[in-house]
Amino acid sequence: MGDKQTYSGTITKKLYLTHDVIEVTVTLVEPTTLDFVAGQFVTMEFPDTANAGKLVKRSYSIASVPEQKGALDFWIKLVNGGLASEWFRTAELGTALQMEGPQGKFVLDDKPRKEEMIFVGTGTGIAPLRSMVCHYLPLYPDTRAKVVFGVRHVKDVFGAEEMFELQKKYPHLSYEITLSRPELPQWAGSKGRVTDSLKTYRASGPGAEAFLCGSMDMIKEVRTALQAQGFDRKDVHFERFF
Ligand SMILES: Cc1cc2nc3c(=O)[nH]c(=O)nc-3n(C[C@H](O)[C@H](O)[C@H](O)COP(=O)(O)OP(=O)(O)OC[C@H]3O[C@@H](n4cnc5c(N)ncnc54)[C@H](O)[C@@H]3O)c2cc1C
Repeated sequence: MGDKQTYSGTITKKLYLTHDVIEVTVTLVEPTTLDFVAGQFVTMEFPDTANAGKLVKRSYSIASVPEQKGALDFWIKLVNGGLASEWFRTAELGTALQMEGPQGKFVLDDKPRKEEMIFVGTGTGIAPLRSMVCHYLPLYPDTRAKVVFGVRHVKDVFGAEEMFELQKKYPHLSYEITLSRPELPQWAGSKGRVTDSLKTYRASGPGAEAFLCGSMDMIKEVRTALQAQGFDRKDVHFERFF
């Protein structure tokens, strides 16, 4: 699953995906490649603004696919006043970064899995799921896959174009955005929490596997909903961001 190691890199891309989510590409300098499994994360170091000379660590899931070994993409929410968030807000292209990884057991590897996959992400919790979906679907194009992406408002949506393109290519993929605070009547898509979307989608219970990423509250709620639909506890994998 890739041994943990220290990497140095530089920021080679910084793009606002929404008003508070950025895509950051870190191009590795030493070593120049990182082997990881879709779903894993790295832990980055930042100068501690409260203690000069000290470093603090924050983890970020790799949003790009494992085939892309030399430049890793991250989808990062800029939390107001957050230490790493404020560092990323002002970081310029060419800024150096230290990280260690890969880490984490929330992975979708290349082994054939159950016949149906459900991916549920809220906010930047969609990042590791994007890596999983983009890597896995070309390997198993006949897998029935459902992706549910939950955010509050239309302005918080990101990464949708790519998922719509994948949906055209892989007819067994269904992608749904659900807004918990939709702007009405303009928004014609799904409304409510991600659990509401799963109530109307009947998964095949024991024949399915789920990957959840976001806040602990969301994970608990979705886990309960999926178990009520016949999911085995061990088939509901999750990663908690906060
Ligand atoms: C395994 C793992 C993977 C992660 N991957 C990602 C990722 O891919 N993308 C990503 O954006 N984050 C990810 N996170 C969260 C990330 O590590 C940081 O916690 C987050 O970026 C905030 O760090 P900060 O230093 O800016 O804020 P801090 O200084 O740590 O916190 C400032 C305040 O913001 C609150 N806060 C922290 N996160 C959030 C949030 N998401 N929404 C609202 N309030 C928040 C804190 O509770 C605190 O009150 C991941 C966390 C883990 C454990």
